[in-house]
Amino acid sequence: MGVHQNLITIHRKIREYEDLYSRPPGSVRLLGASKDQPMERVKAAISAGQRIFGENYLQEALPKIALFANENLEWHFIGTIQSNKTKKIAEHFDWVQTVNSEQIAQRLNDQRPLHLPPLNICIEVNISHEASKSGIDATNLLSLAKFFSKLSRLKLRGLMAVPQHADSFNEQKMEFHKLRVLFDELNAKGFGLDTLSMGMSNDMEAAIAEGSTMIRIGTAFFGQRTKNLTIPPE
Ligand SMILES: *Cc1c(COP(=O)(O)O)cnc(C)c1O
Repeated sequence: MGVHQNLITIHRKIREYEDLYSRPPGSVRLLGASKDQPMERVKAAISAGQRIFGENYLQEALPKIALFANENLEWHFIGTIQSNKTKKIAEHFDWVQTVNSEQIAQRLNDQRPLHLPPLNICIEVNISHEASKSGIDATNLLSLAKFFSKLSRLKLRGLMAVPQHADSFNEQKMEFHKLRVLFDELNAKGFGLDTLSMGMSNDMEAAIAEGSTMIRIGTAFFGQRTKNLTIPPE
């Protein structure tokens, strides 16, 4: 199945789930998770109208961002952040969804170029308490969220999570519900967050049922990932 057809299918499902779970039409945005995807497929997605992309690896992302610089795209960093990469991330991305410490937040703030608007941020939360998973523990979330009021070059937009793998709809829903509760708690305290980034190819329905405003779709959009990323001829 081609990228264009996949995009049509995903949009149809988003509409269907918005309707099914009483979500306002258009309340769920689609991020194309393009890590390990060849340029051709990103290009096909852009031609089909996709505008929001997420990348996990800086070295892979920078050439893509440069190649499509005239397309008015929105680039989200969604990978693990090493502190020696924050400068380039702050310079080249519109959003960073995987902030999980004050130290990383401070660096991104200090390195965000002044000619660019504030960098949009999601805090990544480890909702499944897995040692191997990245993200801040929920108990430390409020204090990190408060820290952003000191950082004028960053704008805290919401929360993001990659829950542990679960096969059943109800298990998936239970994990996403935890992030939803944390999101609602922060907003009850006046944080004004508008982005709940959760849901991937295999659990997008459960995520939308639990209030996701941004699903991050890789394989169901672009096909299987590959390490052979060729640049198409001009
Ligand atoms: C790879 C990735 C995705 C997309 O995963 P699929 O299962 O291919 O849809 C979403 N979010 C993050 C953070 C990822 O690393």
